[in-house]
Amino acid sequence: MVAKPFHCLLCDKSYANKTSLVTHERKFHNQNVIIPHQHILSVPLYSSYCHFRGLFIDTIQSRLGSHRSTECKKKIQVHYEENLFYFIFREQETFTFQVSGYKYNCVFKGQAGVERIGKIFQCPNWWMKANKFGGETIVYYPQQDPITKNLIDKESI
Ligand SMILES: [Zn+2]
Repeated sequence: MVAKPFHCLLCDKSYANKTSLVTHERKFHNQNVIIPHQHILSVPLYSSYCHFRGLFIDTIQSRLGSHRSTECKKKIQVHYEENLFYFIFREQETFTFQVSGYKYNCVFKGQAGVERIGKIFQCPNWWMKANKFGGETIVYYPQQDPITKNLIDKESI
């Protein structure tokens, strides 16, 4: 019998190599929201949450500021504690977890995405940036060319 050391943690399938497991996962658990190790993720401290919120919003704002809307898709990596990412984004419709790659993913698209981020962090006008003249700049999101942000937590702990 061939050894199949790569077990799917979401069902009872096993595979001989990681590539097959990843293929299986993409095919059958593409929209997975189950975190098999959820029980070890503790509720984040409020101070950690506030720090993450600031860092997260700053990261997006700096990317938007330097790239305008020439790209239609942006990927932003925020390295932070895993439990924060999980507790903040788990309720989102676009939240997924890729078990074999240990990757969390949450997509925010277009104006609706901008508003959802504002709701999550309870700061509705987060995309308005104060410029050096003391005024405000609104980052523009063209309707026909929505900006997508993939927000990915660190891959492993
Ligand atoms: Zn499976």
